[in-house]
Amino acid sequence: MRDRLFSIIYKYNLHPNRDLGQNFLIVPDIVERNIERAEVSEKDIVLEIGPGLGVLTDPLSKRAGKVYAIEKDRRIVEILRKEYNWPNVEIIGGDALKVVWPEFNKMVSNLPYQISSPVTFKLLNREFERAVLIFQLEFAERMVAKPGDKNYSRLSLMVRAKARAELVERIGRGAFWPRPKVDSAVVVLEPKPPEERIDLNENLVKALFQHRRSTVSAALKKSAHMLGLSKDKVKELRQVFSRVPHSERRVFQLSPEDVLEIEEFLKKEGVI
Ligand code: SAM
Repeated sequence: MRDRLFSIIYKYNLHPNRDLGQNFLIVPDIVERNIERAEVSEKDIVLEIGPGLGVLTDPLSKRAGKVYAIEKDRRIVEILRKEYNWPNVEIIGGDALKVVWPEFNKMVSNLPYQISSPVTFKLLNREFERAVLIFQLEFAERMVAKPGDKNYSRLSLMVRAKARAELVERIGRGAFWPRPKVDSAVVVLEPKPPEERIDLNENLVKALFQHRRSTVSAALKKSAHMLGLSKDKVKELRQVFSRVPHSERRVFQLSPEDVLEIEEFLKKEGVI
């Protein structure tokens, strides 16, 4: 795998593009472990975002029924088409944040770190069975943070509302070429059963987490403009904000269920 990767790099005199997060995996064991974790079989349709030079795509193509690989770098798309002859891989040239994602049931990717957050949110709005993803370590830790943890954030809450997330492996910088400036980690994501998933008002979540260390009532007052409320309206609503569920708790202590209670109360009061 490593030899193939570097022979392609030399052949095409490829200079990795930092802006596109091009840090290629060079440790075959990590690739294998992630494919195992995703339990890929021929019944599966796998989505890969950012195939790069195919280090994951190649073994995925040998196990999955179908692989869709979305790659933004046109030069890399060309190289993949020339170098590999996968019968069951469709390479989609384009920005994963803009192109329509095909139907899939598993996702396995070493994501470009710049788009980790929007890709995760997009994934959480889709039906899927399991995703095994490599993220920047700090991002992965935020994804799995629990209410009350010091790094519990909007991302942690939104992930928790829809899925179970587990950080299963830390990966050092030496596992990539070129060596990134940060460590990485593998996260396994599985959607919760539909009856346990919570749909939250994203505006409200954003407004609350804008002031994650404040109390709920203080955060609501400070972010009222994000809910479309004028200063006068906020004055008028002072009583309502002090009666809001969990009003004296800190925002970073709230579970998705707590936020749902807040949302339902604000809806009942006609605030949102
Ligand atoms: N999967 C390969 C590996 O592990 O060696 C490459 C991973 S590299 C971290 C990320 C890949 O995503 C690069 O090939 C990069 O060109 C591609 N990429 C970056 N931004 C993208 C975007 N918005 N949409 C699709 N691909 C993107």
